[in-house]
Order: sequence, then C-alpha cells, then structure tokens
Amino acid sequence: MSTQFRSIRGIHDGLPEEVRSFRHIEETARRVFSRYVFSEVRLPVLEPTAMFVRSIGSDTDIVAKEMYRFEDRGGDDICLRPEGTAGAVRAYLQAGLTRSGAQRWFYIGPMFRRERPQKGRLRQFQQIGAEWFGVSGPVEDVEVLAMAHAFLEELGIPELAMEINSLGCPVCRPAYRDKLVAFLDARRVSLCETCNTRIDSNPMRVLDCKVGSCQAQLADAPEMASHLCGDCQSHFDGVKSGLDALAIPYVVNPRIVRGLDYYNRTAFEIVTNKLGAQGTVLAGGRYDGLVEELGGPATPAIGFAMGMERLAMLLPDIAAGSVDVAVVAIGDSVAAYALGIADRLRRAGCHVIHCGGGAAKRQFKVADREQARFVAVLGEDEMQQGLMQVKDMQSGSQQALGIDAAIAAIRQERS
Ligand code: ATP
Ligand code: MG
Repeated sequence: MSTQFRSIRGIHDGLPEEVRSFRHIEETARRVFSRYVFSEVRLPVLEPTAMFVRSIGSDTDIVAKEMYRFEDRGGDDICLRPEGTAGAVRAYLQAGLTRSGAQRWFYIGPMFRRERPQKGRLRQFQQIGAEWFGVSGPVEDVEVLAMAHAFLEELGIPELAMEINSLGCPVCRPAYRDKLVAFLDARRVSLCETCNTRIDSNPMRVLDCKVGSCQAQLADAPEMASHLCGDCQSHFDGVKSGLDALAIPYVVNPRIVRGLDYYNRTAFEIVTNKLGAQGTVLAGGRYDGLVEELGGPATPAIGFAMGMERLAMLLPDIAAGSVDVAVVAIGDSVAAYALGIADRLRRAGCHVIHCGGGAAKRQFKVADREQARFVAVLGEDEMQQGLMQVKDMQSGSQQALGIDAAIAAIRQERS
C-alpha cells in the first residue's frame, strides 16, 4: 500500500542506491579538493531574498521565475537558496575575512529552483561548489579548472569536455555589447520572444538560447572573445597556456555566457553528451565584482558548482556494503549470548546482521537473503563452551570457533 502523501514534484528521496553514489562523489571531492587546500564550509539553506536579487540579477530566470520565495511568520522575505555563491560571499563578508588573505572554500548541499522537472533537472538538487576569494588569476583560474578536472578524472567519468570562454570586463564589454545589440536588433523578427526581451535586458544571454532557429541566426554573431581589451586578452591567454602546460584538453566555446549577471573574464563548463539536453555537469567562472556588489571591498574571486545528480547518472551503480556475518541464535536461552557475540564481532570491524532469533529456518532465510559471507550459529552447547559454529557460505564448510579465531577467519576473507 502506498502512502497518501507524495513528495513535491521535482523533489525526490535519496534512497540507499543513490546515496551510495553521492557519498562516493562527496568523498572524492573532499579528497581531491583537500589537495588544493580548499576548506569545507556549511552554509544556510535559508537566506534573505534581497541577497539573491542583488547578486544573481533580477532579470535572470533564477530570480524572475525559479526561487522558492516566501514571507516567514515574522514577515521576513526569505528564500531557499537557488545557488551557493551569493551565500558564500555573504558569509565571507559577515565573518570579516576580507583582510585574512585568500580564502579557498567548498561546500556540498541542496539547492532549490522551481524549474520544470525533467531528466537531470530537479527542484531540489545537490551541488558541490568551490569558491576562491581574493585572487585575480590567471594562475588561480587554471588551478580551479585543474581541480575540477582532477576531481572528474578521479571519479572516472569518461568523455567529458571542458569548454572555456572569456566574458570580458567593464572596460571591454560595453563596446562589445553595443556591437552585439546592433547585430541582434537587425534580427529581432527571427528571434524568439525570450531573446527579444533579452536584447534589452541582458543581450549576451541571447547567445545561450537553446531554440534551434535562434541559434541558426546567431552563427555570425560577434564574439566577446574577439573583442577583449589588452588585460582581458592576456588573462585569457594565461588561462589557456596554463591548461596547455597541464595537458588539460579544452575548447574555446564563445557561446558560454553563464546565466547569472555577476561573471566576468573566465567562464567555463564541463559537459557530457550522455544526458541529453541537460549536459552541463559543472559550470563556473570568475566574478570579480560580486563581493563589492554585496557590500564588501573590491575583491576578485572565482568558483564553480556541479550537480551531483547529473554526475551520479554518469557513474556505474555502487554495490551495497556486504554482510560478513549473520548471527543465528537457536533457542531463547542464548539470546543474550548472541547479542554479545554480534557486538564483539562489530567491535572487531566486521559487518554483522543479527537474524532476530526465533525459528531457525526463518533466520537462515534472512542470512541467505542478505548474502552473508558467514553464518555464526549459536546454540546452548556453543554458549556453554564459549564457541560458535561458523559456516562458510561459499565452501559450505563449518567449524566450531572461539571469538578470536572467528574474527581472524572472517578478517582473512575481507582482505
Ligand atoms: P542549466 O544550464 O542546466 O540550466 P545552470 O546554468 O542553471 O544549468 P548553474 O546555476 O551554473 O546551472 O549550476 C551548476 C550546475 O548545477 C549545473 O551545471 C548542473 O549540473 C546543476 N544544476 C543546475 N540546475 C539544476 C537542476 N534544476 N537540477 C539538477 N541539477 C542542476
Ligand atoms: Mg538553469
């Protein structure tokens, strides 16, 4: 029978199989990121709405349509965080760290966006993100890209492509923007409705439109990467030569613009062709203006975030932990002895299930279903002698062993 309640659409339960993948991904991230000396932070899920409006930009999809935003009982306008960067900047400022040298942070946790649910697109999803405050690059840009690359390589996800671009800076972007607007203006009738509004609000995002007929119109659109000022050009060259030096494969994709307003210079995505339309597993870039925008001193920064569900879909399933020993207790009089044996086996590091006592036949069934490697059978005689009958479920052989000998035999099979 199923429950009368269901989870909210686009929000799903992390059941054991998926959580095994998540844990593997998280452990890999912690291991790889620690080699780059990034520290984990745990930041709130609830944040003031105004912070996202200010940082992400009010005419982005996230702010305009996707935030879970509400007034709480005290009348505060708050929302469930749709991304991690703004909150990280807030925390960095609130803790007064702007004069403490560069800060390298990473976080793992849920984000919320009220999007149309589909494969690889959920309303509550998990991100692993990294932010590095106080560094202007390009060496740090290369390091961040190398860290993302090392992480995905260590996870063993094949056929991922790194795409990079430069979004320029307040010096070179305005002139480029004018040129782009002129180009787009001449094609208004052939562009979709969303593109038409974006020509006025955020013209670079038109380049990112997923509509096929729009993309056809944009083939000859001017590209930011060919309109960079001297500083942005040498920054971009520095990023590229660093990646070359590390033999990290990449392509320059002039269509990467990122959905958020706060990016400048380096922007990047790591994409797969195995997830259909939702092919971006990792995305990020430099956001040198955001710390100041949120009230701090001018502080350059760079970061990225990746979607764990999308990564998990690209990984093979991970088997459940195996059971070393199933404890079968024959007769009520051995109940305490059996609990004690299970306890001692666990203290020795063995993975143990207790089959619950009662009818022997049912207990053996449990041991069988859980595919226990050994079954420890405890009856009145074994209890008197301080022993257990250890049955090897692979060979079928059985021997009476004391606790230490049993532990040794089980350990031998584990290694
Ligand atoms: P998309 O292009 O898929 O809309 P985005 O540009 O909105 O992505 P970011 O805000 O940069 O994504 O988030 C970084 C990563 O988080 C994405 O590359 C993706 O892996 C993951 N992600 C974003 N939105 C979702 C979602 N609704 N469900 C699952 N994963 C998501
Ligand atoms: Mg999106």
